[in-house]
Amino acid sequence: MSLHKPPLSNASRHDEKSFFQKVNQHFESAARFTTHPRGMLEQIKICNSICHVTFPIKRDDGTIETLHGWRAEHSHHKLPTKGGIRYSTLVNEDEIMALAALMTYKCALVDVPFGGAKGGIQLDRADYSASELERITRRYTYELIQKNYIGPGVDVPAPDFGTSETEMAWILDTYRSMAPDKLDAIACVTGKPIELNGIRGRREATGRGVFFGIREACTVVEDMKSLGLSPGLPGKTVVIQGFGNVGYHAAKFLREGEAVVTGILEVEGGLYHPKGIDVEAVAAWREENGTIRNYPDATLIDNPQDGLELECDILVPAAVENQITAENAPRLKARILAEAANGPATAAADELLKQRNMLILPDTYLNAGGVTVSYFEWLRNLSHVRFGRLGRRFEENRHKIMLSAVEKATGYRFSSEEVELIGHGADENDLVNSGLEDTMINAYHEMREIHKQRCPTEDLRTASFITAIDKIAASYRQAGIFP
Ligand code: NAD
Repeated sequence: MSLHKPPLSNASRHDEKSFFQKVNQHFESAARFTTHPRGMLEQIKICNSICHVTFPIKRDDGTIETLHGWRAEHSHHKLPTKGGIRYSTLVNEDEIMALAALMTYKCALVDVPFGGAKGGIQLDRADYSASELERITRRYTYELIQKNYIGPGVDVPAPDFGTSETEMAWILDTYRSMAPDKLDAIACVTGKPIELNGIRGRREATGRGVFFGIREACTVVEDMKSLGLSPGLPGKTVVIQGFGNVGYHAAKFLREGEAVVTGILEVEGGLYHPKGIDVEAVAAWREENGTIRNYPDATLIDNPQDGLELECDILVPAAVENQITAENAPRLKARILAEAANGPATAAADELLKQRNMLILPDTYLNAGGVTVSYFEWLRNLSHVRFGRLGRRFEENRHKIMLSAVEKATGYRFSSEEVELIGHGADENDLVNSGLEDTMINAYHEMREIHKQRCPTEDLRTASFITAIDKIAASYRQAGIFP
């Protein structure tokens, strides 16, 4: 695989603010528009607890290596806390606290009753074999168990950058082996494989949520008009950075929603075609060749960072933080910046972008689909029953009775396709996707309304933080912790 690694850093390259400071800056910008006492705001903002673990791992060649891992629980205002686990060389304490804080605000915004958390191990997964990664994941889980940083009612991890269902399965197995009589042990982690009590639709949930969020924003005629765009998603051009879980699924659903994906950017290079790229064909090409390079039906962009500056309606960063900086922000051509990744722009870039006529769909809102469906998975695990199991047949039988009554009354004969479409009872996939769509649509309009009412001169990010702060403050008040 050809490795053209673009320069990455999780300390902003062109401004000195750390990621956590950047999140807190957004918090403070929003706090100005609330009337909550300072003491309460400080309690909401601060990271409640963080655990740094170092542990040894035996490599396949017999050598021993020491690894660093973290788990931060940003807010205990609701339990359990919830947040992904990432494997990356860039993982550090500040990043994990920042991402845990974003989780708190995200959960509050979309009414998912969790506090925010995040975890990570500092490593490049490409440097380790599958069995080494398994040993690392199991050891990290053991450390979390020892320190009470995991459990169905304590803290529930999920996949994030550099991790997937496979790591979640190892986490579950390790947790279960140490708590064999715990009835709810399967709810200790989400994003599991379906065969291991995962939920249908979780793998694609974040990307699907990104699609629902962008589609919803594009339906607001007034907002599209002020950007000089026509309303609706069909025909809008999209450039996606990062073709992993979130990027691939966002690209796939946007294309199915008739947007035109003109650019796909990965670490090894980028692809561009003004008439659109076949997302599935690129995924198959990358699967087979280990790179998107040499894909025949698009032009290669040698340095993928240059692709961020392509002409397009919607730019979707779906890779890592700090990709848009004060240096490249003035050259972005997109009218909509859809933050699928967490913290894709530096604080200085944010300031520059705010001054432009650009719609920024903030990460706090746009990538909340993952945690929303994780919440559904957690509920399914606690209830020990698959969604749709109780009602589907009943619904289908009712639909059949109704269809035949309509046929009798009108003489019309439904085709077998119509019977399938109308008669079909909701299964788990339908229910999960419907719950996700509803969540993303409602949260968008709630955030947009707060923007209009409370901070019309600011951006949607500020509105998303105001919404979240108000909801967290309300739960502190309900708990009687603050007057
Ligand atoms: P992933 O590991 O599946 O994919 C990330 C992809 O980005 C990889 O293919 C990687 O090669 C690529 N990449 C990394 N740096 C790049 C660069 N500079 N330019 C182009 N490509 C680059 O990770 P993911 O789960 O898709 O997560 C992506 C982002 O979405 C992260 O910020 C993560 O925190 C956020 N997120 C993920 C989830 C989830 O459910 N997985 C939920 C919420 C937020």
